[in-house]
Amino acid sequence: LVKDRFDYLVLGGGSGGVASARRAASHGARVGIIEGDRFGGTCVNVGCVPKKIMWNAATIAEALEDAEGYGFDIGAFKLDFGKLKQGRDNYVRYLNRIYEKHLDAEGVERIVGWGRFVDAHTIDVAGRRLVAEHVLVATGGTPRVPDVPGAELGITSDGFFDLEVLPKQVALVGGGYITAELSGVLHHLGARVTVLLHHGEPIRGFDGMLRAELVQHMRDAGMEVMLWREAIRVDGTTPALVIVTRNGDRIGPFDCILWAIGRSPRTSGIGLESTGVALDADGHVVVDDLQSTAVPGVHAVGDVTGQLQLTPVAIAAGRKLADRLFGGEPEARIDYDDVPTVIFSHPPIGTVGLSEEAARARYGDAAVKIYERRFTNLYHALTPKKPKTTVKLVVTGTEERIVGIHVIGLAADELIQGFAVALRMGAKKSDLDRTMAIHPTAAEELVTLR
Ligand SMILES: Cc1cc2nc3c(=O)[nH]c(=O)nc-3n(C[C@H](O)[C@H](O)[C@H](O)COP(=O)(O)OP(=O)(O)OC[C@H]3O[C@@H](n4cnc5c(N)ncnc54)[C@H](O)[C@@H]3O)c2cc1C
Repeated sequence: LVKDRFDYLVLGGGSGGVASARRAASHGARVGIIEGDRFGGTCVNVGCVPKKIMWNAATIAEALEDAEGYGFDIGAFKLDFGKLKQGRDNYVRYLNRIYEKHLDAEGVERIVGWGRFVDAHTIDVAGRRLVAEHVLVATGGTPRVPDVPGAELGITSDGFFDLEVLPKQVALVGGGYITAELSGVLHHLGARVTVLLHHGEPIRGFDGMLRAELVQHMRDAGMEVMLWREAIRVDGTTPALVIVTRNGDRIGPFDCILWAIGRSPRTSGIGLESTGVALDADGHVVVDDLQSTAVPGVHAVGDVTGQLQLTPVAIAAGRKLADRLFGGEPEARIDYDDVPTVIFSHPPIGTVGLSEEAARARYGDAAVKIYERRFTNLYHALTPKKPKTTVKLVVTGTEERIVGIHVIGLAADELIQGFAVALRMGAKKSDLDRTMAIHPTAAEELVTLR
């Protein structure tokens, strides 16, 4: 069948797959994209977008609490959670349609269904055989659930977006960025939140200042953060679930338990074994710095590769790959260093470059210098709560080149992007010093550090 022959077949219509498919089509390739669920993938449907909408809602709730200090008499306010969910779902559906429209406009054939590799160049979708010289695995990942009795009584971040009512007492298990984000959302929308960490600090790999400050902020806001607690069982029934931990504690009752213990790549059950593609110990597709596997013509981008699990990274990797395969740019690839990130906690975290710990390991203690300041944002001059903002620069050598910038506090989410440009351009501490401050802002603290 001539129709089922493509130059490029993309398995997975999420951030990476859609971006790569569209870019390849813009170079004139005949492209098919296979998606079993809704176009847009994790980010649009159960990730960045609905998460940020919930974060916005929580930020509004926080502002309403702060309003009194500024002289507003707004009385009691109440959240219509159903209305919030409906508005969010509508917006996500609108984005699904936009994704489809963009693919159509670019001439990419949308193939709806679950794809399975037959061999390295053939994918079966409900009996239809699709063949291409180049295929892209962009199947993303799914939230993990622990292998403990009663685990099925809990939900994951996917289930969080299905909640029709706000739970009253929630336990979040796990210490990654999803816990940092969803705990703040649930707390500020009115739930009683308990966080259980397997380890002593959350968000492993981030700068120590951010990890410690985050716990402090969560506790000061009124969340219960329990460290060194490994859940080994869930007892009871909803709404009175109890988490039993390895050290014998029975923690609860909860009407909602949210597992946030990490994500697994979607590499099983899709016939990858028939392609000869290698997987790492965690099941990620092994790729080189050009996003290619050792099997000619088979490539992978995004969460399925286990590289930085962020939407802009998946998009950029997908586009570069298409430029390389179809756009006459044989060396096109992305740079995985110094990728800025935000954690939408309350308050948010913005970070780019090396943590202090990583900088010391790479450059040695003698070469690393830290500039840090902890202050109260002027916004809190009139609010009863006075959460601190902390900014930190990690610099190296006598020229004091900036290798890490870490901020936790109001506006950290928006200010880090511009500072990331400076860091990537090789900015030194003196470059920040020479930049006039913008007053009164939180960002100015980064150019006035002493
Ligand atoms: C709660 C949460 C919040 C997040 N927040 C952010 C954020 O604020 N900023 C950020 O940058 N990143 C965020 N992320 C991460 C981001 O969503 C991912 O990094 C990104 O979506 C990865 O894109 P991808 O293309 O690799 O995979 P995905 O977006 O997961 O897309 C994979 C697609 O493949 C489809 N698929 C899988 N197998 C098959 C098959 N066999 N046949 C057909 N289709 C298949 C799936 O249905 C899915 O649509 C968040 C993630 C989560 C879970």
